[in-house]
Amino acid sequence: MKSLIAANWKMNMDIKSSISFINNFKKYIKKIKNKEIVICPSFTLLNKINESTKNTKIKLGAQNMHFEEEGTFTGEISALMLKDVGCEYVILGHSERRQYFNETDDMVNKKIKTAFKNNLKPILCIGETLEQRNNNKTLKIIKNQLINCLKNIDENEIKNIVIAYEPIWAIGTGKNATPQQAEEVHKFIRELLSHIYNNKISSNVRIIYGGSIKESNIKDLMAMKNINGALVGGASLNPKSFACICGFNNST
Ligand code: PEP
Repeated sequence: MKSLIAANWKMNMDIKSSISFINNFKKYIKKIKNKEIVICPSFTLLNKINESTKNTKIKLGAQNMHFEEEGTFTGEISALMLKDVGCEYVILGHSERRQYFNETDDMVNKKIKTAFKNNLKPILCIGETLEQRNNNKTLKIIKNQLINCLKNIDENEIKNIVIAYEPIWAIGTGKNATPQQAEEVHKFIRELLSHIYNNKISSNVRIIYGGSIKESNIKDLMAMKNINGALVGGASLNPKSFACICGFNNST
């Protein structure tokens, strides 16, 4: 299956710096093959980046959206608005949304349903805290998050989901999960998907890893059987670094 490498720019960049990023990035990724590359910038940058990535292999994603389709929700963004501006993907349930904005599995579940209804592909983020890992609760937490977030999601839709395993202790800390630690959880997620749905679905869903990915650790992580791509925060803000990450097994 084609690896998916997604950039989560978080609350960084403005129009000028993002266009300069895209212009440079386009040059660096010319030789990259067999990867799906997605950039998830702030809402204010989506339109410009959509225009500047037309006819390239760069796809567009958002970092969040509301679960209602329209209405009196001041300050929120809908799935339709994201589609309108050229998004194909949307990150849902990122740990920063859960931690700072009190997003729950139930809200994430509603968002996934709305995303599918509007032909957006969700990148569902799940992951444990350091305390939970140290108390051997990782797999239990992952299981609960996955079951709750995927409640009543149809098997015709689930094939378009991307699941991002993002251990919270690895996000922005410079301390990535080892390939073995990540593979253990990815394999567990795949087995769970096969219980909830079936083997065929489970083997086709991309399970990507996120947490302090950089040029120096991408290759070893991507060599693991159940790791099908990466969600990249900090290192995606530099076009050369992100291009090297995207081309981890190509020459850029
Ligand atoms: C993220 O926030 O999704 C992320 C993976 O961040 P970083 O790469 O900076 O750890």
